[in-house]
Amino acid sequence: MTKTRTLEAVIVGAGFGGLGMGASLKREGIDDFIILEKGDSVGGIWRDNTYPGVACDVPPQLYSFSFRPDRSTIRFPEGASTHAYQEQFATAEGLRDHLQLNCLTHELTYDDATGLWTVRTTQLKDGQETKGATYKARFVILAVGQLHWPNIPDLPGKEQFRGAAFHTNNWDHTLDLTSKHVAVIGTGPTATQVIPEVAKIADTLTVYQRTPAWILPRPSAKFGPLTRAAFTYLPFTQDLYRHVAASAADFVLSPIAIHGWSASPAQALAKWMLRRQIKDPALREQLTPDYPIGCKRPPLSNTYYPALMRDNVEVVSGPIKKITRTGVVAADGATRKADVLVYATGFHTTSFFTRVNITGRNGRTLDAIWQENGPEAYLGTAIPDLPGLFALHGPGAFTPSGSNVMIKEHQIHLIMNVIRLARQWKGVSVAVLPEAMERYRRRRNKNIRKSSLLGCDSWYRDAQGRVLNPFVGSMRLFRRETRRDPAKDFGPVPLSKA
Ligand code: NAP
Repeated sequence: MTKTRTLEAVIVGAGFGGLGMGASLKREGIDDFIILEKGDSVGGIWRDNTYPGVACDVPPQLYSFSFRPDRSTIRFPEGASTHAYQEQFATAEGLRDHLQLNCLTHELTYDDATGLWTVRTTQLKDGQETKGATYKARFVILAVGQLHWPNIPDLPGKEQFRGAAFHTNNWDHTLDLTSKHVAVIGTGPTATQVIPEVAKIADTLTVYQRTPAWILPRPSAKFGPLTRAAFTYLPFTQDLYRHVAASAADFVLSPIAIHGWSASPAQALAKWMLRRQIKDPALREQLTPDYPIGCKRPPLSNTYYPALMRDNVEVVSGPIKKITRTGVVAADGATRKADVLVYATGFHTTSFFTRVNITGRNGRTLDAIWQENGPEAYLGTAIPDLPGLFALHGPGAFTPSGSNVMIKEHQIHLIMNVIRLARQWKGVSVAVLPEAMERYRRRRNKNIRKSSLLGCDSWYRDAQGRVLNPFVGSMRLFRRETRRDPAKDFGPVPLSKA
């Protein structure tokens, strides 16, 4: 029998959140931790998403940790470049020895007597799952992301399809799409990156659109020569750019989701773009959304609409009726042939911590804790009754209008402050206070009611229509809230007598 290892902290996930958390623990002098990662390398979504056209639409100066900035001089780098930054980060921050790869965490149980979490894992090898190691830790940080488990909708007849079918998260690079009839289902941000690339090579491309997206123009992927020179020879200008770009995102993009000053101009800009790029009035009508722009995250693309105008591309609207052995039957009843089916259908986003069974204080399961109000966490980070457990990008932590790496850095700042507090309070654990959660919930619900997030269905909402995923507000506000004195919102949890 393998011995259970007892550690100060266990981090689950080696994407941006897990890596940033590990680096911060090390910088604090805490070396007694492990990072459990179910994949075979670091990187999370930037490891998994290798579809044609994958790129980050947030500049690397913002989309990296302030304490180890990404010095890339490209404004919107390809996904591989962001992944390369993560790999370099893991090495430079000395995290390699802390990594346990191919290791799926499936159970977390809090012990009231010791204040320790028991972490049970499954080892993955060649598609097989075997019993993995068990750990005990005072702190657990769930850094499993929100956009992680692919959503492949249960369309009738899906199983009979005889061609190749895959989700954008698992692109099949062995397939040559030249002279193939390709069907792409979905028109979200991922689809708007994939479609222009596939349209260039496929014989025909059919785009199955359930809801059109508002598309905003994308600034050039490259910085101009002067900016590039400044970034290369005066690296402090990159730090300056980080602050200016973050403030600009807060000032211009963040109000879009809350009916703020920029919502109408942004929608007018998207309409102008549609008019300018789509000449066919019928197609334009088909591509015009009927919901406010801030309701979903608007993709940035200058190539999406031109791709839809190509002779080999057809946009088919409405829900899909069924999949046949050789094609797709759409709402209009017609069957269109397909050799390859690409699901650009997003992720399971509203269950959170999928496949991890969590039991907290007094034997309360996470399902029981969330039963009344649905999935929620104080600043997307802490949950009452789960002492010493934190989430990176838990419910309510996703920013639709800025850098999610910056958001994670703010969450890590809060977690480190709480860990310091817990280390001062000897012989107890620490959890967010129910009254702090209640105050936060009231503020959050008020912000959601004032926002445009209730104006359409999106991956932010669950089957009951509750808005679960995004933080409603600017990055500056999130920063301010995560910098509050943790002693006001977190309290000691005494250990019970066993
Ligand atoms: P998504 O925004 O959830 O879009 C999924 C698409 O699939 C939607 O068009 C949806 O239609 C459609 N769909 C889902 N189920 C369907 C069904 N049963 N039948 C027909 N259509 C269906 O997912 P995503 O495009 O992967 O983007 C997710 C998030 O990833 C984005 O919001 C963004 O935050 C992030 N992302 C970021 C970047 C970046 O550059 N930073 C790039 C790509 C993605 P409905 O709209 O009708 O639901």
